Amino acid sequence: SITVPSTTPATPSPLTPSPLTPSPLTPGRQALDSALFQLDQAADQLGLDDGLRTMLATPRRSLTVAVPVRREDGRMDVVQGFRVQHNITRGPAKGGIRFHPSTDLHEVTALAMWMTWKCALVGIPYGGAKGGVAVDPASLTPRELERVTRRYVNEILPIIGPEKDIPAPDVGTDEQTMAWIMDTYSVNAGYSVPGVVTGKPMTLGGSLGRAGATSRGVQISALRALPGSPEGRTVAVQGFGKVGAPAARYLADAGCRVVAVSDVTGAVVNLSGLDVDDLRAWVEETGGVYGYRHADALSHADLLELDVDILVPAALEGVITEENAPRIRARLIVEGANGPTTPGADRILADAGTTVVPDILANAGGVIVSYLEWVQNTQAYSWSAGEVEVKLRDLMEQSYDAVAALSAERGITLRQAAHVIGVGRVAEAHRLRGLYP
Ligand code: GLU
Repeated sequence: SITVPSTTPATPSPLTPSPLTPSPLTPGRQALDSALFQLDQAADQLGLDDGLRTMLATPRRSLTVAVPVRREDGRMDVVQGFRVQHNITRGPAKGGIRFHPSTDLHEVTALAMWMTWKCALVGIPYGGAKGGVAVDPASLTPRELERVTRRYVNEILPIIGPEKDIPAPDVGTDEQTMAWIMDTYSVNAGYSVPGVVTGKPMTLGGSLGRAGATSRGVQISALRALPGSPEGRTVAVQGFGKVGAPAARYLADAGCRVVAVSDVTGAVVNLSGLDVDDLRAWVEETGGVYGYRHADALSHADLLELDVDILVPAALEGVITEENAPRIRARLIVEGANGPTTPGADRILADAGTTVVPDILANAGGVIVSYLEWVQNTQAYSWSAGEVEVKLRDLMEQSYDAVAALSAERGITLRQAAHVIGVGRVAEAHRLRGLYP
């Protein structure tokens, strides 16, 4: 027989990790703690009640899947995959898929939560999601990578779709990955479904301007945040990949001097300015920035602490911490990555007068053009590069100005203001929809 406890045990708030399940402070757990802290601060500003706070702190759906993969030598490996739909109140879930060896459910949950606030902040009709596969794509052959992708997609198939949840690229995935996702979904549906995924190759319904969109957004927000002319402003970029490399190019186009960049292979510096295109050619040829002839080597840690006008972290979470924040000399930080700055570091930077354009604003260009791609797919129509560019610029500038205005009005940081707007819009949507049943 079933015994019903006479008193219902109090449900631990998801805002604080339960003391019964001490989780080691993995990078993923730290990212989630940061996201929950930021939500809590915004909820305080908005005066949200406990029920709504808990609702917003809790993902609507979290799926963990096993992804068995046949290796080239015939062995079978099994890796873990995740898809978290943090919120679907304002529209379908939306967010990238990350292939990275250290990704876990905590990290994917934090990233999904940031997607929710990001989409709400820039006013596109999506909730937030993220996916991850705990695998190092560089350790797989192209055929193994394709098998991992297709099997992972097959496992998350029931919860994705153009009206349910729309994946996109993130760390370790690209246009080819998106093409395999589109194909796997379409073969299962029995017809072509381009709108199930964004960041696709042009031939399969991709959008002009999507590839450089995140970086274009980084440039737009950096120029908006800079007091005065960009001419000759020095820039350091952490992560010379899909986001960092085009961002360096766009900032150089605007007149800035890119003096240092890093990637997994190393960091390089040249105070009289790097030739971004020449460096990209070197990376193409050798696989990384390490050993680049026209620059000196630098440590990863030192790159972040260079005396530059603009620092663009464009790699992973948790790189600017309480430990190194006191040594950061950049006047402006523009977050191309998601979650690069911890709340402890935020406090130190704010006290030092450093402006931080937060991730959910600075890197929103990617999901904005993803939205434009999806709209084009649902209309079976494509826009010119100019049309996409204008729409991206408008949404970025409006969002930036709204955040800057609220920050000035309330005397809060840009991150706090961005969260107040994003979280506030999602909370309002919950209020209007009400609770079923
Ligand atoms: N992965 C990107 C992000 O973190 C893009 C997501 C998307 O386009 O859906 O914003």
